[in-house]
Amino acid sequence: MKLACVSLQFFSSSTPRYAGATTGVAQMQRLSIEYNDYIFLPKGSDVSRCPVCGQLINKWEQNLAAIAIRRLPRLDVSTSVDGVVVVKEDVRLFLEAMFPEGIRYVSLDRGLSTIRPKKVVAFDAAARKTRFGKRCDACGEYEWIVGATPVKLLSSVVLGDAEIARTDLEFGSNDQKNPLILLGDVVGSALASRAFSGLTVVRADKPARG
Ligand SMILES: [Zn+2]
Repeated sequence: MKLACVSLQFFSSSTPRYAGATTGVAQMQRLSIEYNDYIFLPKGSDVSRCPVCGQLINKWEQNLAAIAIRRLPRLDVSTSVDGVVVVKEDVRLFLEAMFPEGIRYVSLDRGLSTIRPKKVVAFDAAARKTRFGKRCDACGEYEWIVGATPVKLLSSVVLGDAEIARTDLEFGSNDQKNPLILLGDVVGSALASRAFSGLTVVRADKPARG
């Protein structure tokens, strides 16, 4: 509760100054999130998979709330082996205050939550020279999609300084695939200053480490 109040104060003083301002890719921020060792949707479980290629179908509509988590993650923010972002309760409170409408949360076991930005922005795969693995004729999923950073978005994309969004493309291979999460300049700086473990806020126009 204390955290939520802090960030509400931040926005009540800052929002009018930035109202309507937008962030170009040059100032946009990207979340870089460390991995945990959770697997929510293991092979052999009863989640829907393509009968031809075995890729997950409707991955983001699976009922993650019903899955038992045997211990809390070490990090405040982390990503499962199968691409699900997991946040602890104080992170969710902070984000709920920062983005009252911008994120869909699903409550998980042990007070954890997963987050998924509601706004979707179009990634410019041609400009980024993103590469695509084999595409399954049955389900339309690619085996892998590689080449996410530095971020390139279609020129028509508009992201407000206080907005959060995810890319339409999901990067990585097989079950790991997940979208980039992008932030406007103002909220990116505020989130970075809170220094949650497992989470680094980096400039979207910079390549990923390594
Ligand atoms: Zn398939």
